[in-house]
Formats: sequence, C-alpha cells, structure tokens
Amino acid sequence: MQKIYFNGDIITMNDINETVPAILIEDDSIIFTGELSKAIKIANEDVEMIDLEGKTMLPGFIDSHSHFTGVANSLGQCDLKDAKSFMQIKEKIIDFIKINKIKENDWVCAFNYDHNNLQEHCHPDRFFLDTISTKHPIILIHVSSHMGVVNTLALKKMNITNDISDPEGGHYGRDVNSGELNGYLEEEAFIEFNKQRGMLPIEKLLDLMKKAQDLYSSNGITTVQEGMVNRQLFQLLKLAASKKIFKLDLIGYIDLLKDRDLLIDNIENKDYHNHFRIGGYKIFLDGSPQGRTAWMIKPYLNSQGYCGYPQFSDDQLYQLIAQAIEDHQQLLAHCNGDRACQQYISQFERYLNNYQGAKSYDPVMIHAQLVTKEQLDKMKKIQMIPSFFIAHTFYWGDVHIENLGYQRASQISPAKTAFNQGLKVTFHNDSPVISCDLMKTIWCAVNRKTKSGIDLGKEETVTVYQALQAITINGAYMYHEENIKGSLVAGKKADLVILNQNPLKTEPLNLDKIKVVETIKDGQTVYKSEKNLTGE
Ligand SMILES: [Zn+2]
Ligand SMILES: [Zn+2]
Repeated sequence: MQKIYFNGDIITMNDINETVPAILIEDDSIIFTGELSKAIKIANEDVEMIDLEGKTMLPGFIDSHSHFTGVANSLGQCDLKDAKSFMQIKEKIIDFIKINKIKENDWVCAFNYDHNNLQEHCHPDRFFLDTISTKHPIILIHVSSHMGVVNTLALKKMNITNDISDPEGGHYGRDVNSGELNGYLEEEAFIEFNKQRGMLPIEKLLDLMKKAQDLYSSNGITTVQEGMVNRQLFQLLKLAASKKIFKLDLIGYIDLLKDRDLLIDNIENKDYHNHFRIGGYKIFLDGSPQGRTAWMIKPYLNSQGYCGYPQFSDDQLYQLIAQAIEDHQQLLAHCNGDRACQQYISQFERYLNNYQGAKSYDPVMIHAQLVTKEQLDKMKKIQMIPSFFIAHTFYWGDVHIENLGYQRASQISPAKTAFNQGLKVTFHNDSPVISCDLMKTIWCAVNRKTKSGIDLGKEETVTVYQALQAITINGAYMYHEENIKGSLVAGKKADLVILNQNPLKTEPLNLDKIKVVETIKDGQTVYKSEKNLTGE
C-alpha cells in the first residue's frame, strides 16, 4: 500500500536540513521525498493521497532514555507529583487505596514525591506512613527513582530488621536517637528493596504496558528505551514481545553488574523480534543532584565538604567497561555529577589506551548533567555520546541553584557546548521521572527557564533544529539505527509524526503548546488525536 503525504512542512532532518513538500511511503518504508509532482509520477495509480492541511511532519521521535516498564507500572501507582506536604501525600494515598480497592497485605506504591517541593522539605518516615495504613505495605518512590520510604509493614514483609548494615553504594535511614530504621532507603538499599518486592501479576502488567505504549505514541515517540533490564524484566519483555504487544520499537539495556549472562545467553535478541531487542548494557555511577547524591568534584553548598559518592572504585568500573567492550556491547552509564562523568571518561580512556585499536561501541553518558567542557572534548575522542536530561533546567533548576549556587547550576546540561564540539547529543525525559512529552523537552532546551522563571545558563540554549536533531537523527545514531531511522530519507522506515505546528516557525516560548496530531510506526497509524487540530 502506497501513501503520499503532501501540503504541509515535511522536515526531513536529512544531511542538508531539507524541508520538502511531499513524501511517498510504501508499507513500512519511505520511497521518496521531494516535489509532489515527482512523487505522483513515481507512485502507483492507486496511491492514497493524504492532505496534511498545513501541518508539519517529522521523523518519529526517538526516546534516548526512559524506563518503559517503569512508565507502565506508574500507571498502576499513586502519582504524588502535585503533593505539597505530608498531609497531601496521606490524602492522595488514602484515596488511591479506596478507589482501587486495594486489599489488605497488597502493596501500595506511590511515586513522584519530591521532598524539595514539600512544605516539610524532608522525606517522610515509616512512622508517618504507618498513619496512612498499617494493613498495607506501602512504598513511596522519590521522583529521582533513586530513593524512597517504606512503612513498618513493608520492612517486615521484606524481613529487614534494625540489625541490617548498609549495602555498598547505599544507605538505610535511621532515627538519630534510637538508631532504629526510619524507613528511608537510598540508592542500592532502595534499588534492591524495590527489586525484591517483585512485580504485579503478569496480565495486569501486560495491560499496563499497552497503556504505556499508547502514552509514548501520543507523544510522537516511535522508538522507546527500557533503561535497565534485569532477569525478571527480561522474561516479561520477551513474553510481551511473543504476545505481539509492541507496536513501537523497544530497546532494552541489561544490568551489566548483575545480569551480564542474560545478554550472552540471549545474543539472538540483539536483533528485533516483534519490536523488542537488546541494545547493550547499563550501569549507574552515582545518584542525582537534586537528591544530593550525585558525585561532584566540588562540595555541595553548605555541606561541610560533602561531594556525594560513587557506586564503584576506578578498578571496578574499569572491569565493567572491559566486559562490555569484550562482549562487543554498547555501554550506557548513568552519570550526573562531574566527578562521575570524569570517572566514566577516564576509565574508558584507560581501556582504550591499554588495548590500542579496540572499539568503544559508542558508549553513552546518561544524564551528563554536570559534565564539563573539557570532559566533552575528551568524550568526542572516544565517541562517547552525551544524553542530556535537559528538562532538569525547568523541573529542578531552582533546586540546583540552592544546592550548587547559580554559577554551577547554570552549567547543567551544557547542550550548546556539546553540539558545538560536534557530539551526537541526544535528549531524554527519563520517564516515569517526568512525562514523555518531548515538546516540553524542546521548550526546555531552547528556553532554559526554571519553574520560577529564572534564566538558567542562556549561553547553553540550543536552536530548535538542534533540539529536533537530539530527539530524531541523533537518537538513531545512538542506537546504531541511523540507516533505518531518524530522518525522512528514501529507504528508511516510515516512522513519522505529524504536529499541528512547525516547531521551526514557532515562538520559542510557545514550543510546548505544539500538539501531536498523529504518530505512524512502520507506515501504520498508532496514534491519532481525537481533537480536530488544524495546521497553521
Ligand atoms: Zn539515571
Ligand atoms: Zn533512568
């Protein structure tokens, strides 16, 4: 089946930055882009003509880092993003238990609370959560996904008692006077707890996955990441793929530290099977700046010299890098603080110096929030890709100013510098940390304004075109899929998004008002807006 889309701005994102008047697709592929008359000449007689009515078409957006199943799970959890106090957290969770008729002893999971936004300016503890329910195990997941709080029943259910000691790279919160656990869990302590907690029933999860997929496609995304895959999750994703649940492409990264053998034993999954494939490995090098756990070169403000902390020693990290390269796999590392960025780069350099001629497989620095100009220079030499969580400038910009001072905070996510240095910059939203609304992401990258309206590092604002590159062609490069995705070029996949306005012709401050009208994956419509949105 052939289709010609015409009468709109078709932004190809190709090598010469072309906008063309027509595109011809056949089944799942692009056949031609250019003049309408030529498209008609090439096409079969029964080609379907689709009038864009002045709307704008782009390559389908490529999510360069999020947690697909996390998004699915979040759709079955209580969202605390608007909670401004402990009392509001309590009210929301009590309502959630009622509305969802959650049975006693079943887990209640609430996410997206941010202690920075709470009146109390701190995390609640288990005693507070016990006032919500002592009959349900409750877990509160911090907006960073790197820490949380649980109630007394939750600790009991997981057999965690006061005599437990902190795991490496993690921490159990304790009452300062009694030394008893207070329910707060940080980094490895939290991650392990959440993992051991197990998953929802399979049928429920598969259903939530479908909903999550609809959410991504309603935001114009046609390629999605599963940012950290463990054994349990891998089985689930394979099951979902075998049931043909995926319409969008999903690329998962295996937990290198714990589940390296998963990739080796399932190497055939490096290629897509029913839209799911493995992209490589993932590790964490530090925490988050807003949680004051990102590993910094210089101390946080008013912290008596505290710089956050690493997950690994240099030698441990070196071994992990060696494993990834020896397995010929791309490595993604979560790095936020400049000290963590430095460690990632220097250990990669060390390996590549020791093994002259070895390939780096385009490692990715996920978040790269405090990465410096000098570090970006070095990244270019080892083909390391920075993937910025650029919307931090808006969502946590004010908190970063508090934690780091304006000067350091304004250097967060230095996207302009990275583009200038010729790096293949990508942008991500780390959903479910924030929603997968990439128009908001573009707005953030182009405007760099905090929630309270402060300009945060104007010199690092990028052009709208660069922001679009970061969510299309550069994402394709990152996944080594630039031959099939990322731009509208004959021979590539017909992964397309239609917007009601052309971002290149929109006032920067209005970029977040642009709406996705339709999303097309492999030539098939996977999302269509119910509202009648007209082009302008
Ligand atoms: Zn991360
Ligand atoms: Zn993440």
